[in-house]
Amino acid sequence: MESRLAAHDGFDRDGVARTADAAHAGRLAASDAGYFADGFLRCFAGAAGLRRSPGAMINRGTFARLAAIGSACEQFLDACAAAGSPAQVVSLGAGLDTRWWALHALGRQPRLWVEVDQEEVVRRKALAIGRDAALHGALPEGAAAASLERGAVSSAAGYQLRAADLRDVSALEAALADAGWRPAEPTLVLAECVLVYLPPEAAAAVVALFGGAPGGGALAVYEQIGPDDPFGRTMVDNLRRRNCALLGLAACPSCAAQEARARAAGYSRAEAVPVLEYYEAAVSADERRRVERLELLDELEEWRLLLSHYAVALAVRDGRGGADAPLGALSLRAPVARLFPPPPADPPPS
Ligand code: SAM
Repeated sequence: MESRLAAHDGFDRDGVARTADAAHAGRLAASDAGYFADGFLRCFAGAAGLRRSPGAMINRGTFARLAAIGSACEQFLDACAAAGSPAQVVSLGAGLDTRWWALHALGRQPRLWVEVDQEEVVRRKALAIGRDAALHGALPEGAAAASLERGAVSSAAGYQLRAADLRDVSALEAALADAGWRPAEPTLVLAECVLVYLPPEAAAAVVALFGGAPGGGALAVYEQIGPDDPFGRTMVDNLRRRNCALLGLAACPSCAAQEARARAAGYSRAEAVPVLEYYEAAVSADERRRVERLELLDELEEWRLLLSHYAVALAVRDGRGGADAPLGALSLRAPVARLFPPPPADPPPS
């Protein structure tokens, strides 16, 4: 695989792998502060390096991020269920994400959920799944599903974890085929802070793999934009210093460029907005009031600037010849009242 990849394209495996830990720490801190409830985050705490709590500004941003990606997931699963269509989700650069367990706890997991990441991250995640009863308890095969030799997880429950370098689209395709991905069925692709780390041609090839798949589907992207103003330049420099250069940012620096990339890849409809706009337009006023009371945030202007330097994008294409057009109603502005609600309480003993 290494020989097919440019050895000097500026991609630093270890630096980029560490971003999975930062994303996990951000979620854990926001969950602990009450922005949303996710009991599965703690299960991966041992898999992530120890990290400092990121503070109120980042916590509120993490909330907006989860709202945007969660809404795309919920809408896609609802649309497929309403159309009687099987649903598949592919999470690219999934890191230590816990969303599959949250959905499973609600009985809402799709037919197939494939997570792809770098070998080192997948190994750590598989190990955590094998060790933690709450994680492997959701898999019918239990701990045995997390195969350490292969550094992968395969479960009859539909959860699949695979290692592949996203810079190599044929390696990605092989990993997806091995995980049981069916290009002829609708697929939601989650790309949460991942495409921006890839060289632009690699990111475009990955998006095109799904945009051209006969089953159609949707693409939800959350990542940095706006590298050319002082805030953006600092953001880019900070990440470069931490060995996680935003290699794809110059080629996709705005919401318009996010939309153009998705359309060029074959999606028929694409919309992207800065996360600040998403937060103000899609998150209900009640929910915003609730989260804004959780922690004092003095740096309101800085927070607004931060959220203006991230975009959320949603692109959609219905399957070829699909008269039932199950995805036509998916919308970036669908109102978000609550993040994935907690599972119903156990009935009281009779
Ligand atoms: N999406 C997860 C989340 O939101 O918690 C993790 C986000 S983290 C910022 C980026 C992830 O993308 C990391 O886990 C990293 O290893 C993965 N990634 C970046 N470049 C990759 C590549 N070329 N191949 C596979 N995974 C990659």
